[in-house]
Amino acid sequence: MHFTIVLPAGIVGARSSAVRQKIVATREQGLRKLRTLFFVCVVGSVVACSDNNSPNVLPEGFSYLSQLDSSIQQDMRYLGTNNFLGRPVAGYEAGECILTDPAAEALVLVQEAVTTLGYSLKVYDCFRPQRAVDDFVQWAADPLDDVMRTSYYPEVPKDELFSRGYIASQSGHSRGSTVDLTLVPLGTTVPVADPLSRQFDCRASQSERFPDNSIDMGTGYDCFDLRSHTDDIAVGAEVLQRRHLLRDLMEVAGFSNYEQEWWHYTLNDEPFPDQYFDFPVR
Ligand SMILES: [Zn+2]
Repeated sequence: MHFTIVLPAGIVGARSSAVRQKIVATREQGLRKLRTLFFVCVVGSVVACSDNNSPNVLPEGFSYLSQLDSSIQQDMRYLGTNNFLGRPVAGYEAGECILTDPAAEALVLVQEAVTTLGYSLKVYDCFRPQRAVDDFVQWAADPLDDVMRTSYYPEVPKDELFSRGYIASQSGHSRGSTVDLTLVPLGTTVPVADPLSRQFDCRASQSERFPDNSIDMGTGYDCFDLRSHTDDIAVGAEVLQRRHLLRDLMEVAGFSNYEQEWWHYTLNDEPFPDQYFDFPVR
């Protein structure tokens, strides 16, 4: 089926410029806080200046998505236990989506488009520090640590997650322009549930999977399985339509999908194509 994409024609240029102004303002705000802290801690010779109170100034070229568009939902899975490791992942200290400026700007435009269709975007993961990827590698080396097998990789043997392309020792996420996301109906919220209370087969029907306000994409997020491949026909025509709607919208905005994961997108013109960053998400 062909979808007509309703990106906000005519206002895209103006909107992009507004988004860019917001990025500059946000960065200046962070620098102002840093200057204040410097004055209090160094000039004022206050000894007990805690690092915990210092603002997190991102590297040049990165932004907090929430500061550009707070309407985009965030369900940052690696901060908590609802992920394939069943525990918080190294490097995640806050539930914040951080992306490069052009990736964040492009997502804001997609959000405008999906809102007219009655949806919101919901991100599951954005910038991923290299230390988190290293944590995945260490986790994968321990075959006994498989508490989330049914919920996240029911058929793929743990020691084949790398060779089958579901995990990599370097991830595009660490370059800052890759995002994992889905569509949720406008007005819905992330359900509260305990991922460790029992196993939820990520390939099961939507009512049997872990509760998620995502529209039915055929599998749960991070389900390492053939059914997660974006064009897998086993999920049925209606699910494929939904996956392709998301893909069409993201492609118009300049992203490309990873064909093995319906949720994974990378900006084509990413600003740091060869750099893997390792600052914490906080
Ligand atoms: Zn991803």
